[in-house]
Amino acid sequence: MAFEGLAERLQGTIQKITGKGKVTEQDVKEMMREVRMALIEADVNLKVVKEFVKKVSERAVGSEVMKSLTPGQQVIKIVQDELTELMGGEQSPIKFNSRPPTVIMMVGLQGAGKTTTTGKLANVLRKKYNRKPLLVAADVYRPAAVQQLETLGKQLALPVFSLGTDISPVEIARQALAHAKEEHLDVVIIDTAGRLHIDEALMQELKDIRALKEPDEVFLVVDAMTGQDAVNVAESFNEAVGITGVVLTKLDGDTRGGAALSIRAVTQKPIKFVGMGEKMDALESFHPERMASRILGMGDVLSLIEKAQANVDMEKAKELEEKFLTQSFTFDDFIEQIQALKKMGPLDELLKMIPGMNKMKGMDNVKVDEKQMGRIEAIIYSMTPAEKTNPEIINSSRKKRIAQGSGTSIQEVNRLLKQFEDMKKMMKQMTGMSSGKGKKKMKL
Ligand code: GDP
Repeated sequence: MAFEGLAERLQGTIQKITGKGKVTEQDVKEMMREVRMALIEADVNLKVVKEFVKKVSERAVGSEVMKSLTPGQQVIKIVQDELTELMGGEQSPIKFNSRPPTVIMMVGLQGAGKTTTTGKLANVLRKKYNRKPLLVAADVYRPAAVQQLETLGKQLALPVFSLGTDISPVEIARQALAHAKEEHLDVVIIDTAGRLHIDEALMQELKDIRALKEPDEVFLVVDAMTGQDAVNVAESFNEAVGITGVVLTKLDGDTRGGAALSIRAVTQKPIKFVGMGEKMDALESFHPERMASRILGMGDVLSLIEKAQANVDMEKAKELEEKFLTQSFTFDDFIEQIQALKKMGPLDELLKMIPGMNKMKGMDNVKVDEKQMGRIEAIIYSMTPAEKTNPEIINSSRKKRIAQGSGTSIQEVNRLLKQFEDMKKMMKQMTGMSSGKGKKKMKL
């Protein structure tokens, strides 16, 4: 897994501060010392580490944090914000030309995964953006690169433009552009020639291709596993030819994550995609905020906390807790909960923020049926106050009335009553657990 080591260390550090009701400057100092070590071990650029630690420390010892009710969580939120910022803040979209074809140049050193990524990118463009890409085999230096791209094109059923290897890459690119226009293909992805090392000839060739038609994107492909070397390569390419974004390959095998964390800060160019495997569907858009929360091992629980803070009335929450404990939770409380939840946003989005949820089989694309929620509300609204407080009194004739009143069926009323009963049973078990012997620790 990417970032394994860093994630483990940061999460350990974070656990120490999470529950603290009071955070002193000393606590922050100690935590930042550990964060610093973790980043250095992850092979993050030293200058970047220094800046990062400075920023987080300054914000964390600010009076806002210290005075807040949950200082531990606030400090972690700052770490997450700054990690996100470090990796570019927002996800950086592909820039398409309003007058097709859009031209994307793929550049990089041999072995970085440039040809493979060219195929993967074309696949993404077709599937996700509904485009008609043309793959251009202009890597005439690496033996078999042209053939490799042709094979990938066949596999993906996408057109590949190639003229063999005895012709200059600039000429191949020129003819490919004309071909794309004729064939109404709207994105041209040029797999340019890599070299073993950065040299003048390579840079000149890239500049010549650039001069044919200003590309909309110049993506540098670098191997995440090479760590700071990847960062240096990115810096050199950016200075010599100018790049618009980075594709970080082999992140699936990179347990440290130093390149991912440093490239943006060093080059000011965003990571656009990450390669997560050798297969053609293993290219993902890079989302800094998601990566940050992944590194911190918290799903997206911070957004969840933010949402909850903005929407939950603390008095009400206390009242509810009391009701859980005394098992006097009624349908009135139930509907209040549904409404509070709805205020927080689409439920399937909320579910995804729960840590571990994305790792559970089948949970990654759960869709919560909002219509179904509406029906549940309608059923509850059709109950009398007595029924809401004491659902036990709901007999068959009452069920029939409720079903009619809510425009649902008796089966649906039955189902809700059953769910409510089950929920109460579960609460009983949970409250029993936290007050009785054999107390189990509930961990997020
Ligand atoms: P090029 O010289 O830059 O064109 O490199 P290639 O596209 O031929 O890739 C070099 C090797 O890296 C190949 O064996 C690819 O299958 C492999 N590769 C590329 N991207 C990834 C990735 O994201 N993950 C993994 N595990 N392997 C990759």
